[in-house]
Amino acid sequence: MKRLDGKLCLVTGAGRGIGEAIARAFAAEGADVIVTDKDGASAQAVADDIGRQWLRLDVGEEADWQACADAFPAVDTVVNNAGVTGFEEGMSPHDPEHVSLEDWHAVHRVNLDGTFLGCRYAIRAMREKGTGSIINISSRSGMVGIPGAAAYASSKAAIRNHSKTVALYCAEQGLNIRCNSIHPAAVLTPMWEPMLGDGPDREERMAEFVADTPMRRFGEPEEVAALAVLLASDEAAYMTGAELTIDGGLLAGSAVAPSRD
Ligand code: NAD
Repeated sequence: MKRLDGKLCLVTGAGRGIGEAIARAFAAEGADVIVTDKDGASAQAVADDIGRQWLRLDVGEEADWQACADAFPAVDTVVNNAGVTGFEEGMSPHDPEHVSLEDWHAVHRVNLDGTFLGCRYAIRAMREKGTGSIINISSRSGMVGIPGAAAYASSKAAIRNHSKTVALYCAEQGLNIRCNSIHPAAVLTPMWEPMLGDGPDREERMAEFVADTPMRRFGEPEEVAALAVLLASDEAAYMTGAELTIDGGLLAGSAVAPSRD
């Protein structure tokens, strides 16, 4: 018996990075996975490789979620993973003084609207059975301020709070639908490429990015996927409204140098 046998699990943004790792880990644990992404070709490639189904789904488009509900009216797990930093199309300023309203909205459209629509779809698609697991991928940036990524941090903080609202709403409704958030930091995926580049200073830049991380390394997408497997499984039956950090110790506190006294 595998940990996710018999469960139908939908993962957004699963064409690469953390979402892909989650889709692969779910399949390895016996789940029937729906691999979704805005980029249909990447979703199809992952789905073909693991022998599962796929769907083109832009999480910010309500019509795409409606098509998803028509195709998959019932589901056991939804992972709202798709997310953008806003730096994908080039490094426009994202600090609170210079970020444009257009960029601010574009990031919130995917990260926050996408998660809201994904949670709404999930509750409706789980209501009849009365049980399920919603997993929202927030970020360490949802717990602390990020001066250079204002929209990203704001959207991720809102995901953290909305997860708790969803958890409480479902409990209030007498539904056994759990909702939890995962808060990764510095996980080496294609999301980092615009910041790392492929120049000769790549290793140096990587070391700089994790210099403040107590474990002094990037996390692996598979390490985040392992948490998602736990939350999707019945092992986490008593967990709802929880936030799980996976950040090499970054949020545990500052590593203060020993006193000289
Ligand atoms: P990634 O950029 O490598 O992959 C993101 C995937 O989401 C891509 O396949 C992309 O096509 C898809 N996507 C983008 N916009 C979409 C949309 N509108 N609808 C559907 N799919 C869309 O990113 P990643 O590093 O794998 O990040 C996955 C999640 O984890 C994101 O929510 C991100 O904010 C979060 N996260 C990542 C890190 C990290 O260090 N990598 C840290 C904290 C949180």
